[in-house]
Amino acid sequence: MRRHTPPGEIPRALHRTWWVPLAIVAATIVALVATPVAVSVRVQRLRTALSDGTNASRVAVNDLEVAVATEALALQRHDTVAADSAAQREHRDELALDSALVRIGPEAVEQFAQIRLVDRDWQRSARSDTAGHAISPTVALATIEAFDTTLERRADEQRTRIRALEHANVVSAVVLAPLALLATALLFWTGRRILFLAREATAGRAALDAALEEKSALLRGVTHDLKNPLGAVYGYGELLADGVLGELSSEQHDVIVRMQGLVTGALRTVSDLLDLYRDQGSALQIERKRVDLNRVAEGCVGDFAVSAQQKQVALRFERAEHEANATTDPARVKEILSNLLSNAVKYTPSGGDVLVTVSTPRNGSTDGAFHRISVCDTGPGIPVDQRERIFDEFYRLPDTASIPGSGVGLTFARRLARLLGGDIVVSDGATRGACFTVTFPVSDA
Ligand code: ADP
Repeated sequence: MRRHTPPGEIPRALHRTWWVPLAIVAATIVALVATPVAVSVRVQRLRTALSDGTNASRVAVNDLEVAVATEALALQRHDTVAADSAAQREHRDELALDSALVRIGPEAVEQFAQIRLVDRDWQRSARSDTAGHAISPTVALATIEAFDTTLERRADEQRTRIRALEHANVVSAVVLAPLALLATALLFWTGRRILFLAREATAGRAALDAALEEKSALLRGVTHDLKNPLGAVYGYGELLADGVLGELSSEQHDVIVRMQGLVTGALRTVSDLLDLYRDQGSALQIERKRVDLNRVAEGCVGDFAVSAQQKQVALRFERAEHEANATTDPARVKEILSNLLSNAVKYTPSGGDVLVTVSTPRNGSTDGAFHRISVCDTGPGIPVDQRERIFDEFYRLPDTASIPGSGVGLTFARRLARLLGGDIVVSDGATRGACFTVTFPVSDA
């Protein structure tokens, strides 16, 4: 069963989720502080890597230049031993340079590959014919120079990138900080507002429940107090109508019968109200037995014959072809049908028709099948958008407001029908008017 939150208290769901806005605020603050710090750390690392790479490659390039020049000199002097040791040193420096090149990027790696090619070519030709290739070391050195320039340019680019990153970091911190503060303030405000509204709603609902209960208690009292005097009025009317208190003229007799009709209507309203409010307190009593719905419906139609005749409404009954056996409460079935029949007669103008039809499932199946009893009239009908609303407590169609009624009969009838395992639905009548169909389960509900 659902538990209601006492008035003024924060609902349990909110109690359980109070940490959600706080977590969002905390996450926003952490993000605000952590993002610039992370960017600064990254900038610092980039800077260190840049200076490490630039220094290492510059040292290696210098050594390389010296080695190439020494080797070239040695070869010019035909001193192959000195040239070989210079070549070895050059090779060592190349290895040291390799790791720096990878860090600087693919452009540097490619450019240095070209230097190697030029250097190898020159070495090969210088060793076979030293005199004719004195220009080759110059080419090699020029290429190394170009490489050095590239290194410098790359370092500049890197520095520019780092500066841009730092600048963006400052701008984002300046822009984001007030935004984050605003978001946090909004979050707090929304949270407080939600809590306030939740408290208001809970208090409002509690007040409404209390008012409804007060109204129910009042109606229970009034209806109970009305029922007895109305019953007595009906009884005195019967004494008069039967001539026990003296002979009446036929006109006087007619008036008494009309009065009794009105009292019966009032008694039905009172008993509907009582049943409705009794049902809210405790479940309605249901006593099931095996009955033929044809017979129950026929008896009920008979009860309304006089009132229909008085209203000059033609009341007809069509029983089902077969027995409509169901295990249900015949007294409750009668209550439901009486509600529908009294409405049909009440809302159908003189000269109209009311037809009560009982039908059984076509294929004779029992499981999950329903018998149906329809009460169709040729009255004003029910607009499609009102066909559910008329089952609401105290709801009446504006067009029928001039006809006496309480607006609880259908509420009670549907409640009973559902309690018996069926329901009531409304549709259009065959030509005009309304058609109320009650369903009853064939097998035990
Ligand atoms: P009431 O005592 O007003 O008849 P009900 O709960 O029985 O209360 O019906 C609710 C409303 O549904 C009625 O006030 C009426 O507007 C509408 N209604 C019910 N039955 C019919 C009908 N057969 N034809 C037209 N309107 C109907």
